[in-house]
Amino acid sequence: MTETFDAIVIGAGAMGSAASYYMSKRGQKALLLEQFELDHRNGSSYGHSRIIRYCYDRSEYVELAKDNYPLWFAAQEELGETLYIKTGGFDFGPADDDRLTDTLAAINAHNIEYELLSVEEAQYRFPQFRLNADFQVLYQADGGFIKASKAVLGHITLAKRRGATVKDRTAVERIRIKPDSVEVDTDGETYSAGTLIVTAGSWTKSLLAQTGIDLPLVPLRCQLNFLMPDDMAAYDAANCPVWRAHVRELFSSPIYIYGLPSIDNSGFKIAWHGGQPLSHPSETDYSPDDDNVQSLREFMRAHIPGVADAALRESRICLYTNTPDEHFIIDRHPEHSHVVIGAGFSGHGFKFSTIIGKMLTDIALDGGTPHQDRLFKISRFLN
Ligand SMILES: Cc1cc2nc3c(=O)[nH]c(=O)nc-3n(C[C@H](O)[C@H](O)[C@H](O)COP(=O)(O)OP(=O)(O)OC[C@H]3O[C@@H](n4cnc5c(N)ncnc54)[C@H](O)[C@@H]3O)c2cc1C
Repeated sequence: MTETFDAIVIGAGAMGSAASYYMSKRGQKALLLEQFELDHRNGSSYGHSRIIRYCYDRSEYVELAKDNYPLWFAAQEELGETLYIKTGGFDFGPADDDRLTDTLAAINAHNIEYELLSVEEAQYRFPQFRLNADFQVLYQADGGFIKASKAVLGHITLAKRRGATVKDRTAVERIRIKPDSVEVDTDGETYSAGTLIVTAGSWTKSLLAQTGIDLPLVPLRCQLNFLMPDDMAAYDAANCPVWRAHVRELFSSPIYIYGLPSIDNSGFKIAWHGGQPLSHPSETDYSPDDDNVQSLREFMRAHIPGVADAALRESRICLYTNTPDEHFIIDRHPEHSHVVIGAGFSGHGFKFSTIIGKMLTDIALDGGTPHQDRLFKISRFLN
């Protein structure tokens, strides 16, 4: 027998877990379906931490960040658990770096408070870092991180408290879209609902192919590394900001390196922003590469010497799902207005996951959202 819901959400990563919460909060009978176990490591959302920041090189993201922080405060209060850790955020690189100059313009346009530190002052306040004399250093006090896995599971807990049904190890195999409803088949079950939200991460492209659209989404295989310096206190969240290094001396592409402090002895986290493109997540080799951490040690010798030779606690593979312009897709399906898509978060979506869950819900139930979504329209990728 087909079980009927108001809304079905496919994918319990950062975005789907948040969407199921906001749907339930709006009184919808929601079903969240996840192909693997909850909080699994095969997608994009597992782990200790993801950076949250106002500092973006596009004004639209700063605008979104202003609406986003209060929603994290509200969610963690309702949950009764801290999800946001404020460490301050630190961006550094040559003063003429485009991303830094555009970031300054964007945060100025939104009156976000920040400090431009001289190299001497930055070295004094953050002695973990070694900065070149020609560097620009931007410090923004609200930068920090979201406890990633705890946020995913937290949104699920909140959704369940409000009546949502959550089924893990339940892959959606087929989607049938009818004029005013949808049906999805899993192995042996069929569920129907008036609304479908697709938040399937790197699997979105192949899943949506069933519905007649081919989105230009590319999974990237990315590696993150956790190091255990002898003086861990200096690299702990109590003493160390989240940071992004826009340095070009080690590489020619506009890629940057970022890192987060240790939390609960997780280790100091460091990674390249980017990775190797794949055709489908099923191709992912989840064994980490030694070369990746070695190349980062070269960077650390120059700019974070206290961790450069630290023991490696763990390296892990995680997936980005990139769009060609690296902006998100948060919109209705072009042919079926009761199907809403959240995809293409291009390695920077987690910080916004709570507001994205709300935006997907707003779009599904109200036909639009009051939050900035001008950059996220699906039409830019359709002929
Ligand atoms: C190494 C790394 C570092 C990052 N750092 C940051 C950061 O510092 N700050 C930041 O803001 N963002 C960061 N990101 C990006 C952020 O983590 C992602 O944008 C976000 O997690 C994407 O969430 P998602 O829900 O779209 O995808 P996912 O977490 O992959 O969730 C999609 C889910 O859908 C499920 N699914 C797929 N198909 C089906 C199906 N047919 N049936 C049922 N379930 C299905 C999958 O199993 C998966 O659980 C980082 C990402 C990585 C990989």
